[in-house]
Amino acid sequence: MKVPNTIVIGAGAGGLAAAIDLAVAGHTVTVIDRASEPGGKMRQVFDGQHFIDAGPTVFTMRWVFDALFADANSSFSEALDMRPADRLARHGWSDGSQLDLYADHASNRAAITAFAGARDAQGYDRFCQRAENNYRVLKDSFMTAQQPSMLALAARVGVKQLPALAATRPDQTLWRALDHYFQDPRLKQLFARYATYVGSSPMQCPATLMLIAHVEQEGVWQLPKGMRALADALMRLGQSHGVDYRFNSHVQSLSTSNARISGVTLDTSESLRADNVVFAGDCNAIAEGLLGPHLTTDIKPRTQAQRGLSAMTWCLSAETEGFELDYHNVFFDKHYQHEFDAIFNDRTITDCPTVYVCAQDRVGGHKPSGAERLLILINAPAIGDTAIDADFDSEALWRRTTRVLARSGCHINTPSTPSVVTTPIDFHGLFPGSGGSLYGQTSHGMMSSFTRGNSRTALAGLYLAGGTVHPGPGVPMATLSGRLAAQAIIEDAAHPH
Ligand SMILES: Cc1cc2nc3c(=O)[nH]c(=O)nc-3n(C[C@H](O)[C@H](O)[C@H](O)COP(=O)(O)OP(=O)(O)OC[C@H]3O[C@@H](n4cnc5c(N)ncnc54)[C@H](O)[C@@H]3O)c2cc1C
Repeated sequence: MKVPNTIVIGAGAGGLAAAIDLAVAGHTVTVIDRASEPGGKMRQVFDGQHFIDAGPTVFTMRWVFDALFADANSSFSEALDMRPADRLARHGWSDGSQLDLYADHASNRAAITAFAGARDAQGYDRFCQRAENNYRVLKDSFMTAQQPSMLALAARVGVKQLPALAATRPDQTLWRALDHYFQDPRLKQLFARYATYVGSSPMQCPATLMLIAHVEQEGVWQLPKGMRALADALMRLGQSHGVDYRFNSHVQSLSTSNARISGVTLDTSESLRADNVVFAGDCNAIAEGLLGPHLTTDIKPRTQAQRGLSAMTWCLSAETEGFELDYHNVFFDKHYQHEFDAIFNDRTITDCPTVYVCAQDRVGGHKPSGAERLLILINAPAIGDTAIDADFDSEALWRRTTRVLARSGCHINTPSTPSVVTTPIDFHGLFPGSGGSLYGQTSHGMMSSFTRGNSRTALAGLYLAGGTVHPGPGVPMATLSGRLAAQAIIEDAAHPH
């Protein structure tokens, strides 16, 4: 039998995972990426002194990678140095208050009791139970399975589990739901922030997404060599199964013949033949015709309103003072709703944004002496394709950001604005078709999870993977999407229409 030949466009988590599974199944696989290295959003930047992780930093759902490596006859724990985090994150507020979240429930309960009282600690218990319910009911029926319709999801879950599915409350917003658990507005703010992990507003996304809190509770791992090391490990695994990787190669168009995919053409005019193509970039690029205007697919263009969050990020090496940073740190100001109104309604950034700081040298609580590597991030609207540089005035936004940090007592000792800045305009340049959105389409409203792209498309031989398609964004979810695309190709090759 002829060996099927697949081209994977995009060496992000989804593309790397699809390539591994396909190669293990005996396909000839070539991964093509316009970037110079694997990882996609898992990228590092150089600030003149150090390489600093500039993308994802919260590494969860390790079981996804354990399974991927095991299915390729390899061991994830041997492939990558990773340490379980005892402390998940440190949170600071502008009134000077502080709360740490831990990996174990009892420590969190004690911390929340001291922070907000016994009633909110009981609320936390109930919140965790509900978050776990949401996760358990959706893990095998939704996350690791091909995209279902709402009806198909109910059928997959089965009659016995229907009450548990209904209890995920997709009809209620996360913001509203949190009122049932927390009286202290700071706790509501903290747990609402999980919506931003999928690029969404807590005021508009379904309560179902509190499952992300459970995902963190199941374990967050710190990678001493950074998230880029994960991309390298995935590429090494692919190489060991014969996957070929081509970097600095932009795919300009997809070729078709007899109403099915026949290959790709690079911007150098080189044409490569393929039986199947997995597109693992932002699927909106196809919808917008960036891969060829002639393609007949069912991928719908993303509207402005559907675009998930973008970000402003600064990467730097600097000494810090005051607030004792942990590995993951979040700084909140008041008026949380303003931040999302500004982004999703006014397409701008509030004066007092929530600030995330990843102090990546602080693995296992290590305290660096002197300068340390920092990634500092605030949420931003995904208008990277229409904005002008003045819309993201880095110096002005840096002043706002450091003001929020300073209110919590955290001072970054840097004489000027950090030089490695990434704006939504830059993200749009790096990830074509995205408008700067880091997560594809928002999860707003109860139907959004059912309307993301699927691994199969209406064009025979074209499959989708990555954080912009089912089951959604985040490194582990994008990895699952890659596995689903590979599964679809393998099934379709076994049962051609
Ligand atoms: C700043 C930031 C922070 C984040 N934080 C977290 C976090 O803490 N935890 C978490 O789990 N997730 C986080 N995410 C989200 C996570 O990084 C993404 O959901 C995930 O990495 C996306 O993977 P992907 O498979 O969609 O591929 P991407 O990473 O989107 O990569 C797609 C690749 O396709 C390539 N490509 C696109 N078009 C073409 C073309 N025409 N030709 C050739 N190549 C092409 C691009 O160059 C790119 O390398 C974060 C993202 C960012 C940017």
